[in-house]
Amino acid sequence: MTSVSRASLLARLGRPSSGWANTPIVKGSTFLFDNIAQWREARTRRQSERVLSYGARGNETVYALEDAITALEGGYRSKLFPTGLAAIAATFLAYLKAGDHVLLSDGAYQPAKRLCADQLSRYGIAHSFFDARDADWRRHLRPETRMVYVESPGSLLYDMCDLPEMSRECRRRGILLCADNTWGSSLNYQPLELGCDVSILAATKYLGGHSDVMMGSVTTLEEHFQPLEDISVNLGQVVSAEDAFLVLRGLRTLQLRLERHASGALEIAGWLGSQAAIRTVWHPALPGDANHALWRRDARGGNGLLTVEFDPALDPERVEQAIDRLEFFGIGSSWGGYESLVLPIEASGTRLAREAEKPGYLLRLHVGLEDPADLKSDLERLLAALG
Ligand SMILES: *Cc1c(COP(=O)(O)O)cnc(C)c1O
Repeated sequence: MTSVSRASLLARLGRPSSGWANTPIVKGSTFLFDNIAQWREARTRRQSERVLSYGARGNETVYALEDAITALEGGYRSKLFPTGLAAIAATFLAYLKAGDHVLLSDGAYQPAKRLCADQLSRYGIAHSFFDARDADWRRHLRPETRMVYVESPGSLLYDMCDLPEMSRECRRRGILLCADNTWGSSLNYQPLELGCDVSILAATKYLGGHSDVMMGSVTTLEEHFQPLEDISVNLGQVVSAEDAFLVLRGLRTLQLRLERHASGALEIAGWLGSQAAIRTVWHPALPGDANHALWRRDARGGNGLLTVEFDPALDPERVEQAIDRLEFFGIGSSWGGYESLVLPIEASGTRLAREAEKPGYLLRLHVGLEDPADLKSDLERLLAALG
């Protein structure tokens, strides 16, 4: 399959070899065996391979999506989780134990940071952060560091890590390198190819793509799979077949949608950058963005996310009143669906909090599949309301 282009892969992955074009939705908890010997054999084999045995261990629909994600991520095997955050939590618990330290890039998804502070600390697992742009990131490694966890491009400001370089250092020291690949959504960025051991996706975002399903996945290299399988079984993590079906359906149009999100976002990012009320635009596909060189080297495309800083002289209350009047951009969490969204960002959750000058009002935009001309008109009205 490796010679097949990725666009063609999306039309083939996770499908039956004959019969129905799509893998059917299988519902079930109990799986029946013909005799005790068969039942016993399945229980032995399932320690090390995928065997139908009980609903909590997945079924044909779930396996089809696991296989599709494994092929896209270029790994050995994948496990699915009910949310992206559950996939992150399982990754920490699979590979870390009391006394260990995990080093995270500071652009990591905010709830993942909270998970470290609230839960991992109670289990005696220490964590700290490094600036993804810090060339001297090694100084944050400790003798007990067992995992480096990166989100590249990171949440909110899209800072990127030099994964091949980090991978060489981590392998030399026996440290596991894990990446949250939600931004790249498998097609645009390939952490495993760039040297990571584990790649995580919030399939809730672009893989699902229609704002109607929650899902997470973890894909690993062969030598790291068993701890992931064990934590998934021990924590009783499984996804519904309907949800797996929805994500498989989303995959069919992933490339098309990403291309459209990316071209719309790049156009809007460039245009917003020339507006007087906007001081900064963060979008790695934008020439001039601090992460553009790494993005060009390591990523294959962009997506619909961008973040803007309004002129600090503008009154935040007036900015919010103008945002409330947007017609095409909804106000709500998440991204990766077909629709455009905006969400205010607290500077305290970003590296901007460390800068001397307080930043202006921060807004993250997700550019959806609407006509970019309509989105621009909407944003023009916002800017006009600011005077
Ligand atoms: C949304 C998101 C997650 C979490 O996914 P959920 O399915 O909402 O739990 C994880 N990482 C990143 C980068 C995200 O944007």
